[in-house]
Amino acid sequence: MKLISIIVPCYNEQEVLPLFYNEIQKIISGMQSEHKELEFELLFINDGSKDNTLMQLREMAKNDERVRYISFSRNFGKEAGMYAGLENAKGDYVVIMDADLQHPPKFIPEMYKYVTEQGYDCATTRRVSRKGESKIRSWFAMKFYKIMNKISQTEIVDGAQDFRFMTRQMVDSILSMKEYNRFSKGIFSWVGFNVKYIEYENVERAAGTTAWSFWKLFKYSLEGIFAFSTAPLALASLLGILSCLVSFIWIIAIVIKTLVFGENVQGFPTIMCAIFFIGGLQLFCTGILGQYLSKTYMETKRRPIYLASETEESVRKNLNEENK
Ligand code: UDP
Ligand code: MG
Repeated sequence: MKLISIIVPCYNEQEVLPLFYNEIQKIISGMQSEHKELEFELLFINDGSKDNTLMQLREMAKNDERVRYISFSRNFGKEAGMYAGLENAKGDYVVIMDADLQHPPKFIPEMYKYVTEQGYDCATTRRVSRKGESKIRSWFAMKFYKIMNKISQTEIVDGAQDFRFMTRQMVDSILSMKEYNRFSKGIFSWVGFNVKYIEYENVERAAGTTAWSFWKLFKYSLEGIFAFSTAPLALASLLGILSCLVSFIWIIAIVIKTLVFGENVQGFPTIMCAIFFIGGLQLFCTGILGQYLSKTYMETKRRPIYLASETEESVRKNLNEENK
């Protein structure tokens, strides 16, 4: 028997959960009729939803013993959700996918084939279009991938998503990265292995709304830069060197000017400009240092990545007691 775990992070997904459950059921029975040795578990992560997501998960776990769930004590973010899923999944193969059907379940059988028959360690999808997304958002995304891949040793693939089918070996490698500031796009790529990209057109969310505002995405991309590149630190030194060079030339010019034309009291605006410019530069560089320092600070605290307040075990226990 081979077990496939399907991890689904959910944050306020009451509208799409029933749809998702229906779709995934179909895929599971399809795969099981083709491969008799396959078993499945559905591991939902309730990331502190404020709607009825948890109630629905309890119901599902009651009626279907393949359904498991972990409910967080508050919203910890999708990264924490994925980590919790990977940590608790028992499968020989693990799938991570969104609840909103933007990651079409129909790809799972194809991914299974790539991994089991063609020797890949991971199969994932790559959006080749960003249909249904605003122009500005796509533009920023494009720029982000350009900059990121210039300054980071880890390749971040444009359009790559968190929809992944992985072997146990790859999952264990990802889990061995214990960092608190998790940027999955980087982590998936950093661990390496043989990855198959399946290209497809972007699909819009089946129902509900996205939790990602533009601002959140922007912060997330900075997160990625600070987690997977130290180039901003080098930028500080570079700016320092440049400004030293400029001032060196400037000093020589001023000395010569003073020697030739004598001393005068003009130049107040120049001094003010220089002070403001250098001051700004220094604050900017201190800010960059601060970013890395704060990340290090959070890492050294060694706080847990997530806290669970309830799992499917409580539902199972109740069921057992009722049966007694
Ligand atoms: N999600 C989560 N925690 C969060 C935000 C999102 O677990 O704080 C889940 C969400 O339920 C969904 C997936 O992450 O299953 C992707 O979220 P969303 O569809 O809002 O993002 P988008 O597809 O717009 O990038
Ligand atoms: Mg989505």
